Amino acid sequence: MEKLIITIAPTGSLPTKKMTPHVPITPEEIVRTAVACEAAGAGVIHIHARNPVDESPSTDFTVFEEIHEGIKAKTRLITQISTGGRAGMGYEARNERLRLKPEMASLTTGSVNFPGSVYANSPQLIEALAADMKRLAIKPEMEIFDISMVYNAIALVSKGLAVPPLHFDFVMGLKGAIPATIENLVHLKNAIPSDATWTVAGIGPAQLPMAAHAILMGGHVRVGLEDNIYFSKGELATNEHLVERVVTLAGILGREIATPDEARKILHL
Ligand code: ZN
Repeated sequence: MEKLIITIAPTGSLPTKKMTPHVPITPEEIVRTAVACEAAGAGVIHIHARNPVDESPSTDFTVFEEIHEGIKAKTRLITQISTGGRAGMGYEARNERLRLKPEMASLTTGSVNFPGSVYANSPQLIEALAADMKRLAIKPEMEIFDISMVYNAIALVSKGLAVPPLHFDFVMGLKGAIPATIENLVHLKNAIPSDATWTVAGIGPAQLPMAAHAILMGGHVRVGLEDNIYFSKGELATNEHLVERVVTLAGILGREIATPDEARKILHL
């Protein structure tokens, strides 16, 4: 079986220092976490920026730049910048960061109800972001919150807005989106093109079981405090410990870990 790519999603938009002191917020903290997670076995880092003062999600280009350049200077990790937007961030606020030319960027190919809010991704927004990524030679990671989003992603290829082989991330177990069950994971995996690669990001308590399923099924794994702040019930996690646990689990199950450069080959970067 192909080597296992571990993506670390250390920050996200939601966890604050009050929820867990282990979440990296400032560019310096995020770069330090990247170094530790690369040493633990990560191949890809999924990047969000925060306002260092109030920890709110940031769209500030200079903050993204500081994080991105810091990670590139100190690690070999594949950088994947999130184009996600909370609180109604529009196209202009979400595409500027692509000018940094990360190797990858996330692209959510549909809308979904998050607990208490709509995560709105209109067809026009999706196509505009996809076109930007294609023009800048950035590989999209299709962020899939529900099965219909797989088909929206595949449709981008026929529109000339994405280039196969595609790469998918199945975000599972978030309230309002697809539940984290093995049946749903098999369904998602069977829906993607045969030449595509895939990762699973289980939310909260779904992170560990979905990682185990993905290791056995030949997929890849995303972990990190963006998706889950606990190591076990009541015990807070650190990003590097979550990576280490996947490395251990993969070892037990007989799957080798991809270095960042091996991950580049697997993902056709
Ligand atoms: Zn994210």
